[in-house]
Amino acid sequence: EETSEAHNPIAIAETGSQTDLLWDISLRARIDDAMEAGEIYCVYQPKIDLQSNAVVGVEALVRWHDPARGFISPMHFIQQCEKAGRMEHLTRYVLQSACSAGQLLHFRGHMISMSVNISATLLSDMRVVGLVRNVLQATRFDPCFLTLEITETARISDHEVAATILNELRSIGVRISMDDFGVGAANYEAFYELPFDEIKIDRMFVANIAKDPKARAIVASIAAMGRGARITVVAEGLENPQDIPMLQEAGCQQVQGFAFSRPLSLSNLLEYQELAPEQTLSNIV
Ligand code: C2E
Ligand code: MG
Ligand code: MG
Ligand code: MG
Repeated sequence: EETSEAHNPIAIAETGSQTDLLWDISLRARIDDAMEAGEIYCVYQPKIDLQSNAVVGVEALVRWHDPARGFISPMHFIQQCEKAGRMEHLTRYVLQSACSAGQLLHFRGHMISMSVNISATLLSDMRVVGLVRNVLQATRFDPCFLTLEITETARISDHEVAATILNELRSIGVRISMDDFGVGAANYEAFYELPFDEIKIDRMFVANIAKDPKARAIVASIAAMGRGARITVVAEGLENPQDIPMLQEAGCQQVQGFAFSRPLSLSNLLEYQELAPEQTLSNIV
């Protein structure tokens, strides 16, 4: 299990200060070396099917552990990566790690899917299609088991271009997921105009499903919308196992969250899979 999710105090120091700016500049300069050195790596969080109780997939989440400064928050360094013009590079690196991990899982008999986060800013250019295709070829991972989670869909500048790119990716066999549904601007518009196979309900609503009827109503309405559109509905960020029946009642098909597992290293994931492949849900409910 991940030892520390603690963020670096320097990284979250008051924004706008000079130390902050210098820190960010040095961060940007070190991204490539950190990938090379293995300081940047992926952890994997299980996705559980609410009907079969089985782990049906994992989401790859990027981590940066700097030997001198500790863990750096992914939200922060992804933003810096974008500023440094290294998003494509980071995405290739994460895809490569995730697809190799997926290939190993399949080799061990765990036929589960692999989800990788893709920043919306990459959907303005057809190059991302070649990138995904190349990684799939190099790792020999079956495209049908790869899901791309599009984050920050509000930042997609041209829906027509993005739809072309996503359809191209779908024609390879890759599934497309809309991340963090319900937060951010123009969510419904993006959902309407782009070809998604899956939708993930933001954890803001999922986490509060038991204590807030409003959150419960939102989860149920997103789930109904997903059902109507015939796509998979995933609830993310479930922390309390006691809330599982509510998610089922709301009509969610899959769930992800600390209630089942924190993101795991590849070796811990293999252990998790080999210990209790089907019992994960029944054990905790
Ligand atoms: P996301 O894609 O929505 O990922 C889910 C986030 O929620 C992860 O945070 C995960 O650790 C956290 N989480 C999962 N279950 C729970 C729970 O039960 N409770 C709570 N409190 N949190 C939970 P993380 O790893 O810090 O990632 C944050 C965001 O950074 C991601 O949100 C995603 O937007 C972005 N990100 C992470 N890895 C990548 C990547 O490789 N590429 C890109 N472009 N973005 C990434
Ligand atoms: Mg995600
Ligand atoms: Mg999300
Ligand atoms: Mg989120």
